[in-house]
Amino acid sequence: MAAGSTIQIPSRLPLLLTHEGVLLPGSTMRTSVDSPRNMQLVRSRLLKGTSLRSTIIGVIPNTSDPTSDCDDLPSLHRIGTAALAVQVVGSNWPKPHYTLLVTGLCRFQILQLLKEKPYPVAEVEQLDRLEQFTNQHKSEEELGELSEQFYKYAVQLVEMLDMSVPAVAKLRRLLDNLPREALPDILTSIIRTSNQEKLQILDAVRLEERFKMTIPLLVRQIEGLKLLQKTRKPKQDDDKRVVAIRPNRRINHIPSTTEDEEEEDDHDDVVMLEKKIRTSSMSEQALKVCLKEIKRLKKMPQSMPEYALTRNYLELMVELPWNKSTKDRLEIRSARILLDNDHYAMEKLKKRVLEYLAVRQLKNNLKGPILCFVGPPGVGKTSVGRSIAKTLGREFHRIALGGVCDQSDIRGHRRTYVGSMPGRIINGLKTVGVNNPVFLLDEVDKLGKSLQGDPAAALLEVLDPEQNHSFTDHYLNVAFDLSQVLFIATANTTATIPPALLDRMEIIQVPGYTQEEKIEIAHRHLIPKQLEQHGLTPQQIQIPQVTTLDIITRYTREAGVRSLDRKLGAICRAVAVKVAEGQHKETKPDRAEVPEGEDCKEHVTEDAKPESISDTADLALPPEMPILIDFHALKDILGPPMYEMEVT
Ligand code: ADP
Repeated sequence: MAAGSTIQIPSRLPLLLTHEGVLLPGSTMRTSVDSPRNMQLVRSRLLKGTSLRSTIIGVIPNTSDPTSDCDDLPSLHRIGTAALAVQVVGSNWPKPHYTLLVTGLCRFQILQLLKEKPYPVAEVEQLDRLEQFTNQHKSEEELGELSEQFYKYAVQLVEMLDMSVPAVAKLRRLLDNLPREALPDILTSIIRTSNQEKLQILDAVRLEERFKMTIPLLVRQIEGLKLLQKTRKPKQDDDKRVVAIRPNRRINHIPSTTEDEEEEDDHDDVVMLEKKIRTSSMSEQALKVCLKEIKRLKKMPQSMPEYALTRNYLELMVELPWNKSTKDRLEIRSARILLDNDHYAMEKLKKRVLEYLAVRQLKNNLKGPILCFVGPPGVGKTSVGRSIAKTLGREFHRIALGGVCDQSDIRGHRRTYVGSMPGRIINGLKTVGVNNPVFLLDEVDKLGKSLQGDPAAALLEVLDPEQNHSFTDHYLNVAFDLSQVLFIATANTTATIPPALLDRMEIIQVPGYTQEEKIEIAHRHLIPKQLEQHGLTPQQIQIPQVTTLDIITRYTREAGVRSLDRKLGAICRAVAVKVAEGQHKETKPDRAEVPEGEDCKEHVTEDAKPESISDTADLALPPEMPILIDFHALKDILGPPMYEMEVT
């Protein structure tokens, strides 16, 4: 535990016995010295000493009342804090005493008491590492999660304070700059803690234990602050009174000013908002809450931060599609045609999707398992989801769950938080503006887990047809009916899907494609789509199947078709430049050509291999149409092949 190559405190330390306050490493304390022993220590050690060493003392907390320590030395707490005496101020009034300013350096434990008089001196063992703060700290990695947790709470706490106060802003910066291992001590001395608690932290010699003990203290402080924010309401009343008095005064003395008008405008807005609330189709429970909130809003001064919060909340409540839905138009025959049109192959998946839709049509409800498409990237999982929405005539919204590890991402933050907002489900509903969209829960296998709750548990509630008709987002704080939403999930693997979630879903495997299937997909779907996106026509560009095969085998290595799609996009871009360039030259034939960027590269390589992409650039004529993409053109546009052709 003792320091290695780090800074060492002296092995013998004079001891200052304090009876009020506990000094922790990293913090500074002012302490009054008036007992004979401590006075002696100050006089003969601190005031006489000349070296820096002589200003280092051991502070032993919690010694019994100093009046009784004149004779025998009281029993000493075994662990203390080595400290630097930064300032000594003496006074004779009301009796001779010193005031000491001490900064804690590190913990030590008393090994042996060497002398008791005139002041105690002990042989000590250093317990904490004492390093320069610029050093990188290994312990950060060692404690990883615990220190991360601690840090998050610390940040949350500091951010609840008024950041415009310079000391708070500085503290926020310090959280990032100080080594994590120093934080428990420092924060314990800052937040409201009893001496007994501080003593416990001092006694927690193991860093891990210290982190563990301090986290509840932080949480307690955070909860306290939240409560305080809530109970600030009586103060608002005071503000209200001020506001209430002001308009009267104005009426009496001053004619209406622009400020008045502004206020009036705002008042109008609130009235409008209230009207919207009353005419909206929100649930009874929601209406009740909203009316209560609007009542509060009317009485609130606009300068109050809560004013904006409440207003945003009410505006969201009005905007939410409580009762707005699109009409389903499900016709299995046309659904089959649509799915077939949009997707090549995937027979099994399409069959299952049609069955699912057929059952839905007959039963007319959504109870049943959630479909989950599992397969490698780029095999069309998302795109099938989109097609399902299209066949049903519903809105489509994708919720990316990759990396989500906080349940408030799903369920929202309570409104007491600064910057609180609804979760992704409610946000999605607001975006689509109807209550029966198709929600694609993308990458459910990449859900994380953290201290902020398990997002999978929140998702379970969302997906459970027995519960989701009254889903309560923390931000809304009233139930919203999700039973009309059609959920579909996607994942790359089932191995990492939380078991409880997996249980709710019907897994449909979407395997990768064979080369032949990829060629078909490319020619039926990807190439036409890319041509359209780049404003090209089949009369301008031709990609023969052998070229597609070359792209598949030599430029991509994937189960799906995403890279293939990207490469086709790159080809279309290059050809679009050629075509546009040709048109440009056609209209201005005499202008000297200054090739730039990508074009420049093409010009250079074209000299070497000109036949495929036509060599008309120099002739200032449009290239010969259609531009045929052969292997040489491919090499020119995409660079040399990345993979050698496999021998099959
Ligand atoms: P995933 O969600 O599985 O990662 P995407 O749905 O994003 O994959 O698909 C990537 C691209 O490939 C989309 O443009 C999609 O239209 C296309 N695609 C994939 N499979 C097929 C298929 N069988 N037929 C037509 N297009 C497909």
